[in-house]
Amino acid sequence: MKKLKISALAAVMATVLALSACRVPSQSEPETMISNTDTTASVAIDTSVMETSVPETAASETSMATDSVKKIEPEKLPGQDFDVREELFKLRNDVSVKQVLVIRCEEGTKGHAMYLVKENVEDGKAAWKVARECDAYIGLNGPGKTKEGDTKTPLGVFGVRTAFGIRSNPGTKLMYTSITPDTYACSCDKYYNRIIDSKVTGHKCPDGEQMYYFSPEYNYGLATDYNPNNEYGKGSSIFIHCMGVKPYTGGCVAIPEDDMRYILQDCDPSIKIIIQKF
Ligand SMILES: [Zn+2]
Repeated sequence: MKKLKISALAAVMATVLALSACRVPSQSEPETMISNTDTTASVAIDTSVMETSVPETAASETSMATDSVKKIEPEKLPGQDFDVREELFKLRNDVSVKQVLVIRCEEGTKGHAMYLVKENVEDGKAAWKVARECDAYIGLNGPGKTKEGDTKTPLGVFGVRTAFGIRSNPGTKLMYTSITPDTYACSCDKYYNRIIDSKVTGHKCPDGEQMYYFSPEYNYGLATDYNPNNEYGKGSSIFIHCMGVKPYTGGCVAIPEDDMRYILQDCDPSIKIIIQKF
């Protein structure tokens, strides 16, 4: 324990020395983490040094020794209110669900996709097995969608409404919406958050996206059930689709086309999509 304190102290001193020439205030440096009642920190540290700067790592180690310091929880993003492991455990015991696509949001617009399939369902010893994994891109403004146009990707657990594609049906068990020049992802009030055929509905869809002209993105895709009641303004057309040239999306999740096709060919309508930052 004593050794640990000394090394922590050495780290403090080294960092303070390094920083003393150029002090840049850090947003991630919580002032409340440093307590005057902290006895372990007061052993050898000159208080003038303490006032200068204490790096975050050292501050959190020393703060463990006191009850008066409250742990600061990072603020949760909208939709970040569940534990992925618990959710996978629940879904493992749900016999109706046989596949899960887990999207982990990483830094910025980067993500990682894991396609899990259930094994040993018949034996009652169901377990998740990773059948495929790949890189992914998420919305330009990261995770935590709340409204139309925020270019964020929603966090949560979602079902799938339909598979779709500009290319012909690769053999999916899901309903497959073939995209033609008349297909729109509607974000107008009338058919908000729905994929429509403008010829069938007679709706010209001025605010919608003419999906046929988004290739390779919409070569294949899955339409999630985000905003299930299609409430206007809460966000529409959250898809899992193919990667294009841009390293981000408008709020969807993009994965390589090979992986998208594989998932369409393998999954059934029970598939769940978990998008989370963890
Ligand atoms: Zn429309």
